[in-house]
Amino acid sequence: MPSVHLKSGREKSVLRRHPWIFSGAIGEVSGSPGPGDIVKVFSASGQFLARGAYSPQSQIRVRIWTWDENQTVDAALLHQRLAQAIELRTYLLAPGTTDAMRLVHAESDGLPGLVVDRYADLLVLQSLAWGIEPWLETICDSLVELTGLQRIFERSDAQVRTQEGLEFRCGPLRGSGFPDLACIQEHHLRYWVDYREGHKTGFYLDQRANRRKVKELSREREVLDCFSYSGGFSLAALSGGARQVVAVESSAAAIDLGRMNLALNGFQEQGVEWIEGDVFQLLRGWRDRRRSFDMIVLDPPRFAPTAHQVGKATRAYKDINLLALKLLHPGGILVTFSCSGGITAELFQKILAGAALDARVDVLILERLYQGFDHPVALSFPEGAYLKGLVLQVI
Ligand code: SAH
Repeated sequence: MPSVHLKSGREKSVLRRHPWIFSGAIGEVSGSPGPGDIVKVFSASGQFLARGAYSPQSQIRVRIWTWDENQTVDAALLHQRLAQAIELRTYLLAPGTTDAMRLVHAESDGLPGLVVDRYADLLVLQSLAWGIEPWLETICDSLVELTGLQRIFERSDAQVRTQEGLEFRCGPLRGSGFPDLACIQEHHLRYWVDYREGHKTGFYLDQRANRRKVKELSREREVLDCFSYSGGFSLAALSGGARQVVAVESSAAAIDLGRMNLALNGFQEQGVEWIEGDVFQLLRGWRDRRRSFDMIVLDPPRFAPTAHQVGKATRAYKDINLLALKLLHPGGILVTFSCSGGITAELFQKILAGAALDARVDVLILERLYQGFDHPVALSFPEGAYLKGLVLQVI
């Protein structure tokens, strides 16, 4: 089996069970491993550390499958990891809460580079790294057996694949008769999910608990939902008794889906005012015209996918949050998120403190929000925590 020897002193993170080995930590590679091949990882002094998948082009050169010298990487190991991921989620939600859930959250579930989401009776699979590519058939066999579902659709079109030197690939993997859209149910609402072409695998499953939070806070309020996508938070606000909802989104296709979601739940068409436009521009205009709201949700796209863009992203987060704070009445609520891996929860709070200072408002933290439990974070892999949010009140 090909092997990788680390530079002296670079074994520490592997010993702490961090699943990534960066190219800079590697001293020597022998046996010419190809992309996705299993390599043995040794310390500089020749101690066995782990077995992982090799990715010749990525900065993350090895993703670890196992730290156990006696464990081979095979179909049985993958099946066991998939079974465990699915089993762990079994009793975490009250029955009937939803039929949509992330079943596999990559590294944190011991399956580096693999995402599997369930949307009612179909599965959507995403391969994000070379290490998954040789195992696709094996993984599909296991998923069919473990879930009893017959349809698996592939959405391997996430940007991170380019860093691996992988092409995008989408389409049916298992089964036939795929519908145009999936229809899911969550907290007494139903949503159409564009699993073929929508963002991520079609829906922001990671915001489930936060949609519920927004619902609880919306009663009698005029709510502004910025970056609304297919209306997840807008519908949650309406179902919580919001007086009026204004949704801003730059994608016309997402707004179309939002309108369909409104109809699907029997809400009146005028319940949500959909605005196709740029949030930054609209917020500035409303500030100048002194328009105000009782509650604002800010759920922007990732401004800082990696640590390199943190400076620019920090300014963008401060900008929109500053504008939003200026549009709120006293007593108004801001529910604000960052899904940038490069922005920690601590930094995010500091950005908000700066925004409040510049907006000349005093603000309370009512609650801290995170990604849902079906996007767990292994303690040994803090990079898995990407979504953070704050519920703030202007006083
Ligand atoms: N809140 C949504 C997810 C938001 S993802 C949910 O819970 O489902 C971010 C969204 O912002 C995407 O739909 C993207 O199309 C949109 N977007 C990106 N830049 C934008 C901009 N400048 N103005 C308005 N919308 C934007």
